[in-house]
Amino acid sequence: MPIATVNPATGETERTFAPLDTEDVEVCLARAAVTFQHHRTTSFADRAALLRRAADLLDEDTDAVARTMTTEMGKPLAAARAEAGKCAKTMRWYADHAEELLADEYPDDEDVRDSGAAKVFVRYRPVGVVLAVMPWNFPLWQVVRFAAPALMAGNVGLLKHASNVPQTALYLADLFRRAGFDEGCFQTLLIGSGAVEDVLRDPRVAAATLTGSEGAGRAVASVAGDEIKKTVLELGGSDPFVVMPSADVDAAARTAVTARVQNAGQSCIAAKRFIVHTDVHDAFLDRFTAGMRELTVGDPLAEGTDVGPLSSAQGRADLEELVEDAVRRGAVTHCGGQRPKGLDQRMSEGYFYEPTVLSGITPDMRIHREETFGPVATVYRVADLDEAVSVANDTSFGLSSNAWTDDPAEQERFVRDLQAGGVFFNGMTASHPAFPFGGVRRSGYGRELAGHGIKEFCNATTVWFG
Ligand code: NAP
Repeated sequence: MPIATVNPATGETERTFAPLDTEDVEVCLARAAVTFQHHRTTSFADRAALLRRAADLLDEDTDAVARTMTTEMGKPLAAARAEAGKCAKTMRWYADHAEELLADEYPDDEDVRDSGAAKVFVRYRPVGVVLAVMPWNFPLWQVVRFAAPALMAGNVGLLKHASNVPQTALYLADLFRRAGFDEGCFQTLLIGSGAVEDVLRDPRVAAATLTGSEGAGRAVASVAGDEIKKTVLELGGSDPFVVMPSADVDAAARTAVTARVQNAGQSCIAAKRFIVHTDVHDAFLDRFTAGMRELTVGDPLAEGTDVGPLSSAQGRADLEELVEDAVRRGAVTHCGGQRPKGLDQRMSEGYFYEPTVLSGITPDMRIHREETFGPVATVYRVADLDEAVSVANDTSFGLSSNAWTDDPAEQERFVRDLQAGGVFFNGMTASHPAFPFGGVRRSGYGRELAGHGIKEFCNATTVWFG
């Protein structure tokens, strides 16, 4: 894949970038290793001041960086601005909380005596240079949710961003540098995916985090496993959105629309499979379909656009294949199922797809098993709670889950049985800096955000005094 900005609303290549060569990468690796030796000795207060400065600069840059993101990957401008705001908030959250999250831990006196020690504590020390392989869908957020805790912990980062968001990737390195971090604290490597293995095997790289597809996760984790290097993997998702009879069906249908089409449906935590109790199925399907039909698809730079283009021609082709396979095998299309007509001539080569609702899904359809990374929803009718749980778990993924019910016994059952890294009731999944984020099964392992995230790349060191 070339490293280039291709505007997905028009299909035009706006800028291309030459990848770094081996010597350029060597300079970055050497700089990262040297910088780590200094950065790890700085105080939390010093790091926090730099991170707060980065947050302030990001706030100032919001309009410009939002435009860059929209031009590179097609999200509506308002969503891009909101993403920048969330990144600034997360930087401030880690600036405020990192020291407390990584404070020395003292075991119970009884356990200390039992170990024969006079004193014991656990210190969280940084691991070193961490390679971050990141996707384009939230091109600022995916990176910041790694970088903010990593930098506060005393680690340094090397970013290999997705090849279609090079300007956002370069912006990030520039942002941290302007904030006052040493250049080696956070560097963008403009390299293709084929160059990742050599970087990861380099002894100066201690660990890696990857957000992306299952295939990329497997490739990076295999190399890291071979090198005995720690990884965190945030991979795909096919989150269930269960609606039970006690739910407010109007609210569920309204939220379902947002949960499905945010970021043109290209979100790992988007609700993708709508599993509805038979008593409220028809009412939900009607309202949900009506909501999906009302969305405005079009120019992501225009105010009022709900759904922009998909990020690439390939992404749209993959989605079309899933829909065509389902329809060929008997799925019913309630709306969408095609490219939108009547868009402005300028966008005739853009990668748009209509918000789509399908029902009548059967296990032989690819769409039943695979992730739909676009504005396509599948709706299932279930007879009872047992079937709802069973269909919800009938996926290889396990990122998050949503359930709409006011019944405490049903809520407890979902918490006990849904196989996912999150269970969100009467709302949609969203990440927040204070809550851990991550999945189980093929959605990956490890956690980002909160104390869980910052500790992933720390060496929990037992300090024992006889
Ligand atoms: P992708 O192709 O896996 O790309 C993600 C990153 O991995 C890019 O930087 C890509 O580089 C790199 N990459 C791809 N193959 C690689 C390989 N063999 N070795 C090393 N690096 C490799 O992902 P995508 O299709 O763009 O993104 C969508 C996927 O990400 C979906 O499955 C989505 O659910 C998942 N995702 C998960 C989360 C989460 O938090 N769990 C969040 C967002 C997205 P190039 O661009 O150069 O190929």
